Amino acid sequence: YFISFEGIDGAGKSTHIEAFQKLMQERYPNREVVMTREPGGTPLGEQLRGLLLDAPMNLETEALLMFAARREHIAQVIEPALMAGKIVISDRFTDASFAYQGGGRGLSIDKLNELERWVQGRSSGLLQPNLTILFDLPGEVAEARRSKVRAPDKFEKMDLNFFEKVRQEYLRRAKEDPKRFHMVDATQTPEVIWDGLKKLELNI
Ligand code: C5P
Repeated sequence: YFISFEGIDGAGKSTHIEAFQKLMQERYPNREVVMTREPGGTPLGEQLRGLLLDAPMNLETEALLMFAARREHIAQVIEPALMAGKIVISDRFTDASFAYQGGGRGLSIDKLNELERWVQGRSSGLLQPNLTILFDLPGEVAEARRSKVRAPDKFEKMDLNFFEKVRQEYLRRAKEDPKRFHMVDATQTPEVIWDGLKKLELNI
């Protein structure tokens, strides 16, 4: 069973993801719960993450490196874990590429679809999370939160308009695939958000 966490920077997904892993492990004691993240999740992927977050680069290069890291992540971590019956929780997956490189930076959605097919295409269809938990909130609320926490990485220095576009692409994808997405109103307090996550019924 494959779960991804998504949302714009400052939405609060990192606050909840570790607690969610513990909750899953308590609820399913016989299944190993694997935590991972994108970009990253493998030694090569983490090296690519370092480059992606720091080095200025062409937009298509950025998308290709994201998907290269994802290919490695799927082959080394995600698929073997799913085959072994584990529960995989990933901090971001392909929706982030559509939202950031597509919605935010304007790479064509057709190109992203092609890359997705290339990297996630299986005879049974696209490898996708069974559940995507999307932390949604307006760009300006997220920005106010981000500025309180830590120094921004390359992407977090983008302007408000950028994050609003990222958000809209996340929302568009959630609307297209409502069965996969669970929406979290991330303007709520962490306590209220956590109560909601605890009540989530999973089809595991
Ligand atoms: O989720 P996390 O904050 O660790 O992501 C690291 C950075 O990479 C974020 O600033 C995020 O906006 C960016 N990112 C991106 N495109 C992706 C995935 C992450 O721009 N496909």
